Amino acid sequence: MNSLSVHLTDTCNNSCIFCVVGSHVGVPEKVNRKLVYEFLRENKDNGYECVNIHGGEPTIVPEFLDIIKMIKECGYKSISVQTNGRMFKDIEFAKAAISNGVDLLVISLHGHTAEMQDYFSEVANSFDEAVLGIKNAISLGCKIRTNTCVCKQNYRELPDIVNYAMDLGISHINISNLHTAGNCLKNFDLVVPRLKDGVPYVKTAVDQCVRRDVKVTLEGYTKCILGEYSKYMIDWEENKYKMLYKSFIFNDYSKFMETQARAKGTKCKTCVAEKKCGGLYKEYAAAYGYEEIAPICME
Ligand code: SF4
Repeated sequence: MNSLSVHLTDTCNNSCIFCVVGSHVGVPEKVNRKLVYEFLRENKDNGYECVNIHGGEPTIVPEFLDIIKMIKECGYKSISVQTNGRMFKDIEFAKAAISNGVDLLVISLHGHTAEMQDYFSEVANSFDEAVLGIKNAISLGCKIRTNTCVCKQNYRELPDIVNYAMDLGISHINISNLHTAGNCLKNFDLVVPRLKDGVPYVKTAVDQCVRRDVKVTLEGYTKCILGEYSKYMIDWEENKYKMLYKSFIFNDYSKFMETQARAKGTKCKTCVAEKKCGGLYKEYAAAYGYEEIAPICME
């Protein structure tokens, strides 16, 4: 499916210590919303079915509901929103967003306790509000995918986090390797785990989702790191995004990520997956090298 993806705001009501875009409470807004409206109008008849809205925290933008309505008026079939979920604690807000066309919420769930999630977000009650938001959205029939970033502080708890999400009724769980940009790069030593430490827990978490027949996907890893679990990697060939990020337009965002944010080692030259693989995040490779990767001999 071809989709548009729109960075709606730089600001956020959380200050996550590994936020890839470096959003936090009080960050100055630099997004020109006129460009957002233009981008949505210009692409409305170009074969894009879905619009994905992200930030920062898009739901705190005053025009959020107007933009949702405008997307539907343009004729896009579906709208997904990447959110910390907190605004959906207000059932009236949740009803307005969902009745005006939001079909999928991608909600960050980096912990299964208030202590853990509030530590990451640096905001008290962020966990309780997100959980209430999830419950409200589920009660209104909205699809929800949780996204859990794997960091030093939570990788051992991944099985508990996915179980918690499944107990809430989540039907799709995404687990992400940390993208080493923004706050994540600033706090690299604090938050970024070695792949060899985190991935065994990722696999256990995947097994639990499979056992409970809940869809699970993995993002930001490589085939050689995941082995047989690479079948759970998101297929970016099937999910192509054209992205507006401030004044920049990325016609194929996943291709941009592969070529600009990631890097391959000399070992990759003999790997059969090389053509479809971006390698490791550059900053991770710079810090730890390529010892954890191993070329794949056969598909
Ligand atoms: S190309 Fe390199 S990083 Fe990618 S799967 Fe092969 S060995 Fe691993």
